Amino acid sequence: MRWESGRTRSIDDGITWVDPHVHIMPPRRMAGLVRWVKKFTPGFPIGEDITAEDILRNLRDSEIPYFFNLVFPLWEEETADLNRFNRDICAGIPEAIPFGSVHIETPDKEAETRRCIEEYGFVGMKLHPFAQRFPAFGPEMRPMFEVLNEHRRPLLVHTGFDVFYGMYMDLEEMEAVIRDYPDMQLVAVHALFPRFELAHRLLSEYPNFWLDMTNSISCMRLYEDIVSVSDDVPPMATSLEVDDVKENYGDFFRLFEDFPRRIMYGTDFPVGFGYHPALLDDLKFFALGREAEEAMLNGTVQELLARCGFPDLLSSLS
Ligand SMILES: [Zn+2]
Repeated sequence: MRWESGRTRSIDDGITWVDPHVHIMPPRRMAGLVRWVKKFTPGFPIGEDITAEDILRNLRDSEIPYFFNLVFPLWEEETADLNRFNRDICAGIPEAIPFGSVHIETPDKEAETRRCIEEYGFVGMKLHPFAQRFPAFGPEMRPMFEVLNEHRRPLLVHTGFDVFYGMYMDLEEMEAVIRDYPDMQLVAVHALFPRFELAHRLLSEYPNFWLDMTNSISCMRLYEDIVSVSDDVPPMATSLEVDDVKENYGDFFRLFEDFPRRIMYGTDFPVGFGYHPALLDDLKFFALGREAEEAMLNGTVQELLARCGFPDLLSSLS
């Protein structure tokens, strides 16, 4: 059952799952997000009126001891309020690690980023260029990169699923940013799905580059289900970019062989491919081995936080 919360921690020898990709947002934004997901996921069981309490109850049922809470403004006027919202709500949730965001029209991105990092105590920032509808790595965003680089902090950016979104990301511009800000830790959320060959090259060249496999693991499992049934791909699966997945198939597995400690596994909860037990099942489907699973479920996040100056943030895990 994909849409049921429940224990995950004890399922596999007590490996704890720190989720680096959760969305608790203000009610109006949660409703919008759920409405959007319902458009392309028939039978999506979450209501538009889902509350922070509902989300938190599910996370606690699944024994997720820590999670990154991600927000992103859809227009500039919302930016400061949304960052304050994340500060305030996460202050009351011991498990939550808040991230800030800016909009391309935010007039002083350096000031907003400094407020998030220096005043609110956020670990890092997040951008969703396809939902926010602006390029994440253009020159306008560099004032934010400067602050993150100065503080050695992470930037989480949605990458991949271009066909699904009908949008395009300038990956050369992204690489220039990774190179120009070597102390900023760039986490490619969704791991450039399905450009795993490129992901592998970037991991081998840049120590400040990381992957988050949110949704990508479930999509690869869906791909396996499709190809095992037939060579013909159903029309609904076209946004899976099947031909590109085929080309990148070997590199998907090479990622875990060569860089297990640079890959994390988030969920997009509550708007991803299911609740935590089902998503853990999707990971286990690939039988990557205990070392890789442990790294993806918590080791990589711990390493990222240690590199950013928070070696003790996940204190209850050690
Ligand atoms: Zn997300």
